[in-house]
Amino acid sequence: MAAIEMKNIVKQYGDGFAAVNDVSIDVADGEFVILVGPSGCGKSTLLRMIVGLEDITSGDMIIGGERVNDIAPRDRDLAMVFQNYALYPHLTVYENIAFPLRLAKNFSESEIDEKVRTASATLELDEHLDRKPGNLSGGQRQRVAMGRAIVRDAKAFLFDEPLSNLDAKLRGQMRTEISRLQRRLGITTVYVTHDQTEAMTLGDRVAVLRRGVMEQLATPRELYENPVNLFVAGFIGSPPMNFLPATVEGDMVELPFGRVKIPAEKAARAKGRGLLIAGIRPEHFEDASVMDRATVAEGSTFRAHVDVTEWLGDQQYAYIPFEAPPEVQAQLTQLERDLDGESIRTQLVVSLDSASRVPEGEEIELYVNAAKMHLFDPSTGDNLTVTSPREETSAHSSSTSSSSSGASVAR
Ligand code: ATP
Repeated sequence: MAAIEMKNIVKQYGDGFAAVNDVSIDVADGEFVILVGPSGCGKSTLLRMIVGLEDITSGDMIIGGERVNDIAPRDRDLAMVFQNYALYPHLTVYENIAFPLRLAKNFSESEIDEKVRTASATLELDEHLDRKPGNLSGGQRQRVAMGRAIVRDAKAFLFDEPLSNLDAKLRGQMRTEISRLQRRLGITTVYVTHDQTEAMTLGDRVAVLRRGVMEQLATPRELYENPVNLFVAGFIGSPPMNFLPATVEGDMVELPFGRVKIPAEKAARAKGRGLLIAGIRPEHFEDASVMDRATVAEGSTFRAHVDVTEWLGDQQYAYIPFEAPPEVQAQLTQLERDLDGESIRTQLVVSLDSASRVPEGEEIELYVNAAKMHLFDPSTGDNLTVTSPREETSAHSSSTSSSSSGASVAR
């Protein structure tokens, strides 16, 4: 096992296009880091540079303290697990796991047997050693692929969208399985996905990439609670954060539906900036009629016309039509493009308690937990209300919310 240090990594293709542009990430020994971002952001290219399948234009790739830029893939001691697991269908589970050892040619038959049996015990594959991959479940196949990586004592696991071919249910199961195994084995892992649920649930830390640039590297909680800019705020979270035009006066924020009070320290950071974009997550709204009156009285409420509701059992979403004024449309249109066309400005999406009886087509009193509001600069997209740096230096630093002072908290 080993730490992976990426220092100012650049990948420029022949046409001058920088698929990866000055990315630095330190993956600690035993850490699980996710590379996430929309299609074409450069995440697979970065992974391929770690493995050695892609040349590095500039920067240093350091694995276990050794610079590996010019070291061939097979000598880097890394185990790549692909989408299709690349198992040999005609070989048994035993032989699939033994394969890299036989290839290395320096292990005796008894050494091979011991390593395969240790790996299969760890992965709970003992009962299946004589079966062929075709007779295994998706989860078992995934474990065989990981077994092949374990027997080699690889320095790190690298995953490239391993679950993207699976249906939603199996994907959920596999996610848990990968997470459990990684923790048990404590193997340094870098995992590429475009799925933000995988990113949020699997990683110790997540690197969000856009157009070859790393936008933020942080724990899932930090990304969710303190996104550094509009892109990260819009990319992480489902349904996505709501974006609204806003102006700040004192500690009051003027929104299209009314004025709300925010913590003074947040307001101070947005002072004198003119038109801003406010970001409020769906769960920071609530139907005031299901809340205790004291909490409602301390916070801000407004009347909202509910267009459509979706009841999900434990919660429900209500859609409230809304149109951003032209002043902020340009920035939001660009963001929509970055987020692959996801519409973010035609309606407010709010997540309400399942006890709420929201009638479609009628008005309700909607509470907003303004303390949780973010304010973004419309020209740069920067989040003015977070203090955290773009990059956390410590792999296992605690992730705390810095945004709960001041106004009352709904839930
Ligand atoms: P996806 O999720 O779609 O696989 P990705 O984030 O993994 O996307 P990469 O495959 O790393 O993206 O590609 C990053 C960018 O580099 C893309 O814009 C791609 O078109 C470009 N690219 C990849 N290979 C080449 C090449 N040989 N020459 C020029 N550009 C390339």
